[in-house]
Amino acid sequence: MAEIAGITIRALAEKYGTPLTVYDEGKIRSILSSYRDHFTSEEFETGVLYASKAFSCKAIVKLIQEYGMYLDVVSGGEIYTAVQAGYDMSKAFFHGNNKTPAEIEYALENRVGTFVVDNVQEAELLQEFTKDCGYQVHTLLRVNPGVEAHTHHYIVTAHVDSKFGISFVNEDEIVQAVNLLKNSPNIVFDGFHAHIGSQIFDRNAFGEEIRKLFEFAVILKEKYGTEISTLNLGGGFAARYTDADAPIPTDEVCRFILETCQNEKQRTGVNITRILIEPGRSIVAEAGCTVYTAGFTKKTPNKTYVFVDGGMSDNIRPALYQAEYDAFIDGKETEPAETEYTVAGKCCESGDILIQAIRLPEVKRGDRIVMKTTGAYGYSMASHYNKLPLPAVVFVNEGTDRLVIQRETYEHMTALEE
Ligand SMILES: *Cc1c(COP(=O)(O)O)cnc(C)c1O
Repeated sequence: MAEIAGITIRALAEKYGTPLTVYDEGKIRSILSSYRDHFTSEEFETGVLYASKAFSCKAIVKLIQEYGMYLDVVSGGEIYTAVQAGYDMSKAFFHGNNKTPAEIEYALENRVGTFVVDNVQEAELLQEFTKDCGYQVHTLLRVNPGVEAHTHHYIVTAHVDSKFGISFVNEDEIVQAVNLLKNSPNIVFDGFHAHIGSQIFDRNAFGEEIRKLFEFAVILKEKYGTEISTLNLGGGFAARYTDADAPIPTDEVCRFILETCQNEKQRTGVNITRILIEPGRSIVAEAGCTVYTAGFTKKTPNKTYVFVDGGMSDNIRPALYQAEYDAFIDGKETEPAETEYTVAGKCCESGDILIQAIRLPEVKRGDRIVMKTTGAYGYSMASHYNKLPLPAVVFVNEGTDRLVIQRETYEHMTALEE
């Protein structure tokens, strides 16, 4: 019988029901320590930001606070969650390509420390909104260095048409936004932000990003006389979903990034003094799993299905972008995996498949199917499709479990309906 941090999955399923999202809190803590201990440098001031969107709730924000880390937020809702968790909002970074006027006001009311400005129009609006906001708002400008990385490959000069940030191709616009930010009395312009993709395995993608950002800092300094202090390199560090994935270990990727920055600083001579990164997935993905209960099975000419009591409503990633996962049957770990199953959800959508093909021991109704590495972009992307209630979320640490998000009830789902 499999355990998570000293508690059997069976006991968790009996106590909280299924589908159930379970996090091994110790794993999250050890990754947070690893980023904190390895993303340090003699040359630069450094900082690690947790990207809330990977999994946002009060419990995780409290952990981030405990480890002294910064926090990325991308909406009024994520700001609210952080405020509710008692987070020091001066350490929050507010991202987003279309922050609404209401969200900007809300962020300023809550004294969000840094805005990551996405475009010229936002810079104009922020200038207006900060006129008498009562504090100095730090800003980074999101740029698009033309490096795009997804999974195993990266492409240079790809994607000038991204909806995020201003492309290096539009130098005039970058300079216009920078000048707006620099000439606003309550705004401090710190530097640039870029984020080149997610689930990145190739360190050279980060190397290329860093090189391009330093080179642009040279242009800004020599051509326009503006010096910057900070580069935020974004997130995108990979997690291991299946045995086919081999992410760069946290210590190595931290070292590689900081060494590359140091080399670039020497090569280009620009005086960058602070380097930031903002991992989301790599902090929570592997610490989480989802426990489902197997229902009916079905044989077709080419497939054997097993249906589970959740699906795309609690994990849309397989349907959305063919994400792959590993799973096991709790209590049958040592039995021979003789049958190839398709693990499908209960939603009314043919695309509601969680795992296309996986070899498992014979599955019986009532078995607990545990899908691994569901800690990032699972719960946070969940929906009420077919009016399935959102699962409960539990943290387990050193033999103790605690409920961090209650299971939704039918009453919760209809509470706002007239
Ligand atoms: C999504 C995102 C992140 C986190 O990405 P991960 O792949 O989860 O590490 C960081 N920064 C920005 C701007 C993002 O959009």
